[in-house]
Amino acid sequence: MVDTIRNVLIPVENGYDTVDVQVVDNAIAAISPGCDATNSAIDGKNKLLLPGFVNAHTHSSEMWQRGIMSVFPLELWLAELYDFAPLDIEKVYLSALGTAVETLLSGGTTVVDHLVLIPGKELETIASAVRAYKEVGIRAFVAPLIQDESLSAGIPSGESEQIHEPYFRSTQATLEIISEAVKQFHRPDEGMYIATAPTGIQLCSDALFTGCIELSEKYDLCRHSHLLETKAQEKLAQEKYGCSAVEHLKRIGYLSDRTSLAHCVHLTEADITILAETKSTVVHNPLSNLRLGSGIAPILKYRQAGINVTFGCDGASSNDSQDLLEAIKIGSILHNVTDSDYQHWITPRQAVEMASLGGAKALNMTSELGSLSVGKKADLVMYDLTSLSLLPRTDPIGLLVLGRPTNVVNSVWVNGKQIVADGKVKTIDVDNLRQELFNHSQWQTTRKSQTVAQIEAHYRTVMNLS
Ligand SMILES: [Zn+2]
Repeated sequence: MVDTIRNVLIPVENGYDTVDVQVVDNAIAAISPGCDATNSAIDGKNKLLLPGFVNAHTHSSEMWQRGIMSVFPLELWLAELYDFAPLDIEKVYLSALGTAVETLLSGGTTVVDHLVLIPGKELETIASAVRAYKEVGIRAFVAPLIQDESLSAGIPSGESEQIHEPYFRSTQATLEIISEAVKQFHRPDEGMYIATAPTGIQLCSDALFTGCIELSEKYDLCRHSHLLETKAQEKLAQEKYGCSAVEHLKRIGYLSDRTSLAHCVHLTEADITILAETKSTVVHNPLSNLRLGSGIAPILKYRQAGINVTFGCDGASSNDSQDLLEAIKIGSILHNVTDSDYQHWITPRQAVEMASLGGAKALNMTSELGSLSVGKKADLVMYDLTSLSLLPRTDPIGLLVLGRPTNVVNSVWVNGKQIVADGKVKTIDVDNLRQELFNHSQWQTTRKSQTVAQIEAHYRTVMNLS
């Protein structure tokens, strides 16, 4: 299979060049001012070609609750989320399709789905998301969200004695599910990967983390987790381990150059040094951190310390969209208020590199993904620079990152296959998806979470909210 994209704009060191980009099979075969376009040629005139971005942290099935979640901090928000989480395999499939489509149409070619599992139907949940991503053709890391402690254990005890119900599934049974998922679904050659993903120190035992490390080594899997998203988690780590969560994760060996950590809002200077030394990646989820009041992650400090940072949308219940370009914009300019030295601020070009090469680094795939280089896999996005939101003509990347781009993705290739053309997803029927999402939901405004009612008073006490 050969595609040649003719006369397309690509960023080069001091500006932009107009080139032909030849895609042969699944890779970029040539980038030149005029390579031979005898095969199918795609018109790249007035379009910008960039490496695909990575939506490096999301939870696809949260799509069912976007727009309705209460205005809560994470711990109460989670309680509400799980009280109303979809328990239906078909819904998992539809929201994975939706997440894939929204990621593609906002510049992403890879998604990391920290997938919430339906209790008792864990492998079916994973199968359903895998099926959706395969149908769309997006590169997908399905990272089943696992824990082995019950939800209330995620809130610090403070002065009180707290007794938590045991989690309904054993650590061993949980690890066996991941092991089985790897056997059934981990197919790197097909762009489908399983990653180990304990939800975070707040709800996971050391045994679960250690079991995940073993699976990661045995099957060469990426590692993922939430990390220090809230003040409460910072307190909890001190209660649980007597040290910071980062120190503890280092001690048990979870941190590595294929470990990506979502949020990282509340880290100490010593924690920052550890993440840099272990070459771990921070996944910045600015919209979720704002929506849940978690805080502003010190991203500029991380970058100065040499930590790889990339972007995620996080689940659509804490965002409440899956617009990667929006996450990149907010995740860049948000930090201009955290450091008066403007030389540290994130430029549009740096933001693009964080979202593409930074994402590839998070997944330990820099030799294959993340830049427009001959030999790398053709995961490409072509933007229409004649779109009203990208006019008048100035700096294309500046317009894309700092503007409010609307319907600007013209074409997407994943692994050399074109799956979006003329702004339309070719692999699935998006009109039908819209109809299904509509049919499987209803307008609603209020609902009451029983779990929140049970834990709110304790949460307020321990967080000193009178
Ligand atoms: Zn998350």
